[in-house]
Amino acid sequence: MAKEDYYELLGVPRNASDSDIKKSFRRLAMKYHPDRNKDNPEAEEKFKKIKEAYEILSDGKKRSAYDQFGHAGVDPSMGGGGGFGGFGGESFSDIFSDVFGDIFGGGGGRRQGRAQRGGDLRYNLDLSLEEAVSGTEVKIRVPTYVTCGECSGSGAKKGSGPVTCTTCHGQGAIRMQQGFFAVQQTCPACRGSGQQIKDPCRACGGQGRVQETKTLSVKIPPGVDVGDRIRLAGEGEAGEAGGPAGDLYVQINVKEHPIFTRDGANLYCEVPISFPTACLGGELAVPTLDGKVMLKIPSETQTGKLFRLRGKGVKPVRGGEIGDLLCRVRVETPVHLTKEQEEIIRKLDESLSGGGSTHSPQAHGWLDGVKQFFDKLGL
Ligand SMILES: [Zn+2]
Ligand SMILES: [Zn+2]
Repeated sequence: MAKEDYYELLGVPRNASDSDIKKSFRRLAMKYHPDRNKDNPEAEEKFKKIKEAYEILSDGKKRSAYDQFGHAGVDPSMGGGGGFGGFGGESFSDIFSDVFGDIFGGGGGRRQGRAQRGGDLRYNLDLSLEEAVSGTEVKIRVPTYVTCGECSGSGAKKGSGPVTCTTCHGQGAIRMQQGFFAVQQTCPACRGSGQQIKDPCRACGGQGRVQETKTLSVKIPPGVDVGDRIRLAGEGEAGEAGGPAGDLYVQINVKEHPIFTRDGANLYCEVPISFPTACLGGELAVPTLDGKVMLKIPSETQTGKLFRLRGKGVKPVRGGEIGDLLCRVRVETPVHLTKEQEEIIRKLDESLSGGGSTHSPQAHGWLDGVKQFFDKLGL
């Protein structure tokens, strides 16, 4: 199979500058990096090819050999070409880790190269239960860094541009002979980027980014819950010196609802019912998130009983069955009784007492339990 053209692989013209090659490589490598493409062998293959192309084109000598002789000029199996001899592989891996140190290195805080990936941002968003359940679109204001408009992120004064580092000639690394061995080091002048800014942009002080409060519109999908996170790729802080932007994470919090509490896909609510309804049964209107429904209360309903209204819960954001609304009834003790009402209840009590424990299913069991407990203690 014919090998793909290195320039085409990196998507750059044959006369591309070193910095364009590097920029394009960064972009593609970010896209196809195995860390970002788990279990995707195609991306991994592509990543390897890009890596190989960059290895050759980022190296002045290898690049000119490739320009002259094509793949035959640089293929290690063909011998020769590179001119780095036994150090060829190592010189690449150094530059490679340098390029990636700032992108994937994360916590280390080791600053190498000028272009830095911007920081990730976190925005805490409070939603009402209704908004979380049905989804919504919100406008948020985020203080962040944006790419400097004056220099388009390059950090160099308008009309000028970063120039190839004079210390390392754009290689990002310098080689020093130590006795018999050649040792490679990150270039101290440009910190490995291969570029220097002679005339920094005034608007951003050469950083390539400025502070600004950005207004963003965020789509909240229906069904989100407390603790869910929505990632907005590339909406974090702009990178330094034209580096890639970080991501913005919108952290969802759902405010307490006066009626409903949520547990996964299910909603719960408490419904007070009158003492006569509990005894005789009846129907009452209960609230759901999309209006009232009638709930049938059977006769002889005990307080605390749960009634399930199927499909009146929440459709989870990650898919799955829509949940239920569970109504827990609480029998209310009547208050502010008139003399007449008190008299009726006294009469009711006498009547109920006459039947022994037949009218009190729970007290019956409870009294038995208490008796056994006292017997055990010998009281
Ligand atoms: Zn600027
Ligand atoms: Zn340098």
